[in-house]
Amino acid sequence: MTTPGLLAKYRPLLDLPAHTADISLHEGGTPLIPMPRLAAHLGGGFDLYVKFEGLNPTGSFKDRGMTAAISEAAGRGVRAVICASTGNTAASAAAYAARAGLKAIVLIPQGKVAVGKLAGAVAYGAQVVQVDGSFDDALGLVVQVSETRPIALVNSINPYRLEGQKTAAFEIIETLGKAPHRLCLPVGNAGNISANWLGFTQMHARAGTGLPRLLGVQAAGAAPLVLGHPVDRPETVATAIRIGRPARGEQALAAAEESGGRIVAASDDDILAMQTLLAAEGVWVEPASAAGLAGLKNEIAAGLDVQGETIVAVCTGHGLKDPDAITRRMPAPQVVAADLPALEGLLAGG
Ligand SMILES: *Cc1c(COP(=O)(O)O)cnc(C)c1O
Repeated sequence: MTTPGLLAKYRPLLDLPAHTADISLHEGGTPLIPMPRLAAHLGGGFDLYVKFEGLNPTGSFKDRGMTAAISEAAGRGVRAVICASTGNTAASAAAYAARAGLKAIVLIPQGKVAVGKLAGAVAYGAQVVQVDGSFDDALGLVVQVSETRPIALVNSINPYRLEGQKTAAFEIIETLGKAPHRLCLPVGNAGNISANWLGFTQMHARAGTGLPRLLGVQAAGAAPLVLGHPVDRPETVATAIRIGRPARGEQALAAAEESGGRIVAASDDDILAMQTLLAAEGVWVEPASAAGLAGLKNEIAAGLDVQGETIVAVCTGHGLKDPDAITRRMPAPQVVAADLPALEGLLAGG
């Protein structure tokens, strides 16, 4: 028996129009992986889990929102969808549009999209357009195009994206039996932190499952919600959150505050160091996905008391999406002659 997709499983909990189809790649159901060594490294005394969203069909959490947004668009009879993307939205929109038999047009900031994401969008047959500008510029363009043409916008301004992305919270509650004390996650356009909060509050209202404090983490070079103003030239190695004008910024700030949590920034060095720590425990995520835990590490170092807590970190995308982030800074593998003495010599040397 196949696992159900997210709409098949959660439709009654999602606010979707009656015309919504069910376009699925059997997304969701991602594991909650205990990380005891990382927890000890961060000071110990709490339980830490990674919700590994890189294990969705196109390698990021975007698939949760995309199954909902594309299903709605397809059910409405739209023939084409469009989005601006730092990469993962493009790959996901392309895949779900292909599944639905729709045309996908994706706008990406030129030269700023990780190779695994660009390749995905191309592989799934999307029309990929590089914009000589930022993600924010590209988003402005697709919003205007979708207002004048019969093309559905599938960025997280689209409310159905958030409906789909609520399911991550539902799954975490199902696995733990209740909400964690704290949820940390990266923040870019701020749709995901907003969607998770919707999911946790909805389930708490229905079943008293509790509410997590939110720790949203932006990259220091792209931290408009921390600085309190837009960033015109966002810059960070974490390309998935390289966004200077988050579309859901107000909603995200309100969610963090309502939860008793906050939104902070982490440096690129902190983010890459956390990517290495996660990989050292067997979980390879793309740089942006390490931001949530990088922020948690800084908060704990600055005195945040998490003793006795259960903490979930949403690791949003797979490391395979951005292999350059590793190969750029790690030494190339050693080369050895194809004989045993040479190999023995190399192993003896360290
Ligand atoms: C899209 C994305 C984010 C940011 O999510 P927002 O909803 O834009 O805040 C973080 N990490 C990865 C891997 C992403 O693809």
